[in-house]
Amino acid sequence: VAPLEAHDVEFAYTAERPALTGVTFGIGAGEVVGVIGPSGAGKSTLAQLLLGLRSPTKGRMCVGGTDLRDVDRSWWSRRVSFVAQDALLITGTVSENIRFFRDGIDDNALRVAARQANVLSDIESLPLGFDTHLGERGSQLSGGQRQRLSIARALVGQPELLVLDEPTSALDGRSEALIRTTLAQLRGQITVVIIAHRMSTLDICDRILVIEGGRLSALGTPKSLQEDS
Ligand code: ADP
Ligand code: ADP
Repeated sequence: VAPLEAHDVEFAYTAERPALTGVTFGIGAGEVVGVIGPSGAGKSTLAQLLLGLRSPTKGRMCVGGTDLRDVDRSWWSRRVSFVAQDALLITGTVSENIRFFRDGIDDNALRVAARQANVLSDIESLPLGFDTHLGERGSQLSGGQRQRLSIARALVGQPELLVLDEPTSALDGRSEALIRTTLAQLRGQITVVIIAHRMSTLDICDRILVIEGGRLSALGTPKSLQEDS
């Protein structure tokens, strides 16, 4: 797991005002970092730059000190993972859902990811045995369980960077709390970047980037940002 750095990053979709400009920050390996800001601020654009789906129109995005432009794309695409706001569920069982994008993964890798995402520990508490639960239909799961299933699927292959775009905005408070706990447990193993609308979602983060109008307007711990506001 390597640190990530943005050096004076600009990204412009069009010749008009850039979506991001003058963005500089570092994210330590294994840090849990939040990104917050109003709609249209540039959060998704930043996520796409971190994932290597887009390249800065100015400045540099680096991993382990190397410009992402000079990093082998297929290597980086296997080192990063993404979880969207709405859990993508395919027809089938919990284990089929976890395996879906990574054909050929062994049972052990599947269980590791399922445990990391608190899929197994949660479902295990039901009276049935745990293999039965990997065999549970995805359609039987609650919203929170589905989102943890999405996280498990994203963790298969042990990426070094996991980016989540508003992973809890469709969930109730209890489900959100369990996702927060799950993401906090990844600290130190995987670099986690969480885009969110509400500050309360990000209380588990080591640091939070505040993006406003395409600029990094603040960077601090949840506590320091609360004191400033
Ligand atoms: P969010 O606020 O969750 O980032 P949006 O509703 O702003 O999502 O955008 C949804 C999709 O539309 C994204 O893929 C984004 O890249 C695209 N999009 C947003 N604004 C524009 C635009 N002005 N022109 C073209 N595509 C856009
Ligand atoms: P956020 O995720 O904070 O809502 P975005 O990164 O989606 O913000 O968007 C930042 C700005 O870039 C917005 O003004 C949006 O309309 C614009 N934008 C996003 N995607 C596109 C796109 N594909 N084409 C053109 N403009 C876009």
